[in-house]
Amino acid sequence: MQCLLCIKPLEKYLYKNGYWIYRCPICHLGQTDLKKNYKQFVKEFYSKGYYEGDPTRSAYADYELDKPLIVRNMSKLLSFVVPKKKTGRLLDVGCAFGYFVELALSRGYDAYGFDPSSFAVSQARKLVGKKRITEGTIGDVAYPTASFDIITMFDVFEHLEDPLNDMKKLSALLKPDGVIIIATGDTRSLAAKIMKRRWTFFIPPQHIFFFDRENVASLLKRAKLRPGAWYRVGKWLSLGYILHLARTTGESSAAQLIYKLVNKTILMRLPLYVPMKDNMVILANKLP
Ligand SMILES: [Zn+2]
Repeated sequence: MQCLLCIKPLEKYLYKNGYWIYRCPICHLGQTDLKKNYKQFVKEFYSKGYYEGDPTRSAYADYELDKPLIVRNMSKLLSFVVPKKKTGRLLDVGCAFGYFVELALSRGYDAYGFDPSSFAVSQARKLVGKKRITEGTIGDVAYPTASFDIITMFDVFEHLEDPLNDMKKLSALLKPDGVIIIATGDTRSLAAKIMKRRWTFFIPPQHIFFFDRENVASLLKRAKLRPGAWYRVGKWLSLGYILHLARTTGESSAAQLIYKLVNKTILMRLPLYVPMKDNMVILANKLP
């Protein structure tokens, strides 16, 4: 395996969930060896269980029950966009159940979304209507060039197979004065350094790339995007989701026990603010 940015051989970094994560010795970009066809993998993996606590997925405990907290986090992310663009055509990449499209519509944006999961797409279409949601990966979808004012990618970047080509394509969909906002994990955050292999972003196989500020900025530049502002955000999460993450990607047997005790009780929905700030939110403009 080669580094996407440096075109140099990657080194073995850590082994988790049956997959090797490699790392570039020069720019520190991390990459999972997926060992299978990405398109096929995406079709099979992001099924109903992914959103409903399947223990083999280390994804969401219950995406639908957690909607109020998910929307609260999304609202924070949208607040970074508002000063730049108060209205306009917006595209949400990896829109899942369409919660962000619904939120953006309620704030007056002409919002659209797409997602490769046919289960998620069917949920999103029920919420915001068929014409606003498309099924597919970034490679699949066909929107007109320079047709969006805003592109949003929340917790999507790390799932991409080819982030460089994907960002080039998305960059072309932006109008010349358009903005793109990306939220992803930061491998140089304090939480990542302390938790090491238990860091909740190290979730192969669904997380394929692991960035820090420097290597993500260099990738964006090659896609003709210039990061203008950087933020770190805390997140509202339900106790159920935290325990599910801890028992799966956190590899905690104590969390597994507690999860079993509180599962299906009202405690699962207890909202907690997690100020881990192990993420980076990047607001980028298009370069001429
Ligand atoms: Zn590299």
